Amino acid sequence: MNKYVVGVDLGGTKVEACLLDKDRNLFGRKRVSSEASKSIDHVVQNIANIIHEVSEGKDFAAVGMGTPGTYVPSEDRLYGAPHTPIYEDPGLVQGLQKRLDVPLVVDNDANCLALAEFFASCEGKYRYVMAVILGTGVGCGLILDNKLYRGSKGGAGEIGHTSIDINGRVCECGLKGCVEAYLSGPSHSRRYLELSSKKLDLREIYALFEKGDPIAHRLFEESCRIMGVFFANTINALDLEAVILGGGVSNIPLWYEKVPPLMKQCFFGIPRKTVPIIKARLGDSAGVFGAAYLALRELGIMDF
Ligand SMILES: [Zn+2]
Repeated sequence: MNKYVVGVDLGGTKVEACLLDKDRNLFGRKRVSSEASKSIDHVVQNIANIIHEVSEGKDFAAVGMGTPGTYVPSEDRLYGAPHTPIYEDPGLVQGLQKRLDVPLVVDNDANCLALAEFFASCEGKYRYVMAVILGTGVGCGLILDNKLYRGSKGGAGEIGHTSIDINGRVCECGLKGCVEAYLSGPSHSRRYLELSSKKLDLREIYALFEKGDPIAHRLFEESCRIMGVFFANTINALDLEAVILGGGVSNIPLWYEKVPPLMKQCFFGIPRKTVPIIKARLGDSAGVFGAAYLALRELGIMDF
């Protein structure tokens, strides 16, 4: 029996695929535009093509795919993909399955990233971990007792939309005070604009912070406090041992120094040592590797 698998990471603008063997060795990787503006059938065909190309004629036994939102099999559609609403049209997953001769397993992209990063830095060391992805939005994947935790319908981990202020900033999801409305990359830009009337991206704001800009200082101080409360809330709720931080916003060095003591102030109950905040290692490769791990689990080669 062959033991190659294909992983697919379906993003808003691109589709990436990789070919792994049963020992998680990488044999090929490709990335193309998803062309999500065209139609769902077009996207499905693009995914089928990239799977075919990346496998380079090798027989693969399963495909795993990470997507935005949560897939509901009974309706064959995704929910919760507001940045690419076309992916919420029915037919994406079944349409792709019809083009494949092997099983297709689908999960949320943040879950795939969490899996890959968990196996890269926490396997054998921590059993209860959350991976938070701070980028355009705020996503999260949970590994509890060494298992990927999906909840009753596969929608677990949407802690980017937990509120830290019921009268707070309006989030893109329509709720008030969501963590995402403060900590995503675009939210940092918006908050800085309101304080300074200057429109800058996160990297530019951080450069000003390093030069002693008082407004940037105020902004990052608030972000650190919010992040401390946000992480501590989830650590208290789930009794976690470590936090993995990924996505573009995770590149700010300040978080790793300032947030752990603020987080510790909010721990409740049982004595806890400092819970480490671990920087994600795999960069934007994580999603596609985690997707391939879904396929390896489907074949009984990995267990999580
Ligand atoms: Zn929200």
